[in-house]
Amino acid sequence: MAQHDQLHRYLFENYAVRGELVTVSETWKQMLENHNYPLPVKTILGELLVATSLLTATLKFAGDITVQLQGDGPMSLAVINGNNRQQMRGVARVQGEIPEGADLKTLVGNGYLVITITPEEGERYQGVVGLEGDTLAACLEDYFLRSEQLPTRLFIRTGEVAGTPAAGGMLLQVLPAQETQAADFEHLSILTETIKADELLTLAAEDVLHRLYHEEEVRLYDPQDVEFKCTCSRERCADALRTLPDNEVDSIIAEEGEIDMNCDYCGSHYLFNAMDIAEIRNNASPADPQVH
Ligand SMILES: [Zn+2]
Repeated sequence: MAQHDQLHRYLFENYAVRGELVTVSETWKQMLENHNYPLPVKTILGELLVATSLLTATLKFAGDITVQLQGDGPMSLAVINGNNRQQMRGVARVQGEIPEGADLKTLVGNGYLVITITPEEGERYQGVVGLEGDTLAACLEDYFLRSEQLPTRLFIRTGEVAGTPAAGGMLLQVLPAQETQAADFEHLSILTETIKADELLTLAAEDVLHRLYHEEEVRLYDPQDVEFKCTCSRERCADALRTLPDNEVDSIIAEEGEIDMNCDYCGSHYLFNAMDIAEIRNNASPADPQVH
C-alpha cells in the first residue's frame, strides 16, 4: 500500500506519556537516489532519518536539527538535516571497505553521535554522546536521558515493502513535569516494542495504534507530512564561492572553463562560468551578509 510519509503524534489519556509514529519510506528512497551506498550504510541512513524525524517532532519551537554520526570507521560520516516542517535531507561519507552486515560500531568505529539544534530564534544547542549503545535507538535514548532527563524510548524499523526500501519508527516519552510511574512507562514500552516492521510500514497509523494499545485510551492528533527537501540553491553556492580566494576561483575557471558545484545531498549541479563569477563579484558589496 503506497502511503506518503507522515508523522503522527499521540497521547495516552491515562498516563503522562506521549508518542510519535512516523513513516519515511519515500523520503528515504529519494535520499538514496544518486548515491550508491553499501547496504549497511543505506540502513543506518534510514535509521538516522527515522530518528531525526522523531526527534524533530519533540521540539517545541521552529528551527533546524542536525543528527550526525562521525568516527574513524569506514563510514566516517552520516548526517541528516531536518526542520520543524519535517523537511529532511541526508548524506553519508564512505572512506573504506564496508563489511557485509556491518553494525553501527563497525561502521562508525570510535565515534560520536552529535545532535545540533538551531532554533529560528534563540541559542544553538549541541549535544554529543558516545556510542555506548549497540543501536542508534539506544544511543538516542541515552542522549534524552542526559540532555532532557526525560525517559524516552525509540523503536526503529527498516526493511523493504514490495521490493523498495521502507523505514519508520515510534517514540515514547514521559511528559515533562508530570508524575509517571516507571512501571507504567515500562508497560507501554513493552507493548510498543512488539511492533513488527511490516505492520509499521504498511498499516495506517490508527491500525498500528489499535494493534499495540487496544486496551489503552489513545488520542491521535492530525498528522504532519514528511518530505525530502534539499536546501541547496544557486545563491548558496554563490555565497560559498564568495568565501574562496579570487585567485583560486580564477585558476579553476582558467583550467576547466567553469566551476561545477555539486550538492552532496541531492546531486544537483550548479555551474558558474567566468561571466557568472564576474557578476557574483559585482554583486558582493561589503554590506552583504556573509553566509558560511
Ligand atoms: Zn541539494
